[in-house]
Amino acid sequence: MIPLSAATLKTESWQRQLANAFNRVEDLLSYLELGDQLEPSMKAASRAFGFRVTRFFASLMEKGNVDDPLLRQVLPLGAELEDTPGFSTDPLADQASHQGNGLLHKYHGRALLITTGACAINCRYCFRRHFPYADHQATPSHWQPLLQQLQQHTDISEVILSGGDPLSLGNTRLGALIEQLQQIPHLKRLRIHSRLPVVLPQRLDQGLARILGHCRLPMSLVLHINHPGEISTELIRALGPLRRQGVILLNQAVLLHSVNDSVGIQVRLAEELFQAGVLPYYLHQLDRVRGAAHFAVEDEQAAALHQAMQARLPGYLLPRLVREVPGAHSKLALSMSQNE
Ligand SMILES: *Cc1c(COP(=O)(O)O)cnc(C)c1O
Ligand code: SF4
Repeated sequence: MIPLSAATLKTESWQRQLANAFNRVEDLLSYLELGDQLEPSMKAASRAFGFRVTRFFASLMEKGNVDDPLLRQVLPLGAELEDTPGFSTDPLADQASHQGNGLLHKYHGRALLITTGACAINCRYCFRRHFPYADHQATPSHWQPLLQQLQQHTDISEVILSGGDPLSLGNTRLGALIEQLQQIPHLKRLRIHSRLPVVLPQRLDQGLARILGHCRLPMSLVLHINHPGEISTELIRALGPLRRQGVILLNQAVLLHSVNDSVGIQVRLAEELFQAGVLPYYLHQLDRVRGAAHFAVEDEQAAALHQAMQARLPGYLLPRLVREVPGAHSKLALSMSQNE
């Protein structure tokens, strides 16, 4: 149980900040002094997939710059409404591999739990932009059957809390879920995939640190940072307590046209992640989701970029360049997926 304390008050404040996120494109543009750039197609795109950006994430953007790499990740564009061949609403066939309420078991030994459909920001390239969360998320009422299912699958050694964004759950719910998970004897590791600390570092509050610190399972937190401009001093400070508790910090990024598709940016990202105590894990080729085609980088260009990164970075700072292929037993290294 989380006692009512200073930590709880802090929790309320990140929740208030979530509630105060920008949810109208024109408000963000006006905050960024780009007021006259709103086009009707932006509004239409934001109706197709909701618009949402925390004020903290917006504060990391450069005012007056419509090409800001952070802004590009969240700004709805008319291009999203185009139907490009090869880009579908369920690119990973997740709806087929989903096991029951919110459990995705695609890879050996690992099960991914969709704890919630909510995110603190809506990234325009998101592969789940069409995912029917309401049908598939593991809301607390679904936890019991789901925990039973995990109990029975003794081959599962790692549970990944994902979403949406699992850290958009409050500490009470998250703590209760983790408490139940750690009682499953065959689990050896727990992992959290979250972008929330990046767009709202206050989320990493004392209550959360306490929950993670008390868990018997070794933990990793996989952040989602695409550009060095997202590594704020607030984030670095907020990660400190988790590092000291032995939580392994990793990062996955998505390779995005005009956001981070240059060697210089990728090298800076890797180096600045390390400064923050985070190791690069994956660099994902974009999942081919409808509405995100304008973010795609050609495979040849991606492979060349990765080679150039390898020539400049120590091996431990080189993320694996991967693509997700429906039906495969793991994420595939790009060179392998190209040979298919
Ligand atoms: C990406 C993913 C994982 C984790 O894969 P790792 O290679 O272990 O990081 C697990 N389950 C699903 C369904 C995934 O999409
Ligand atoms: S935070 Fe992650 S799940 Fe949420 S919209 Fe962004 S990429 Fe998608």
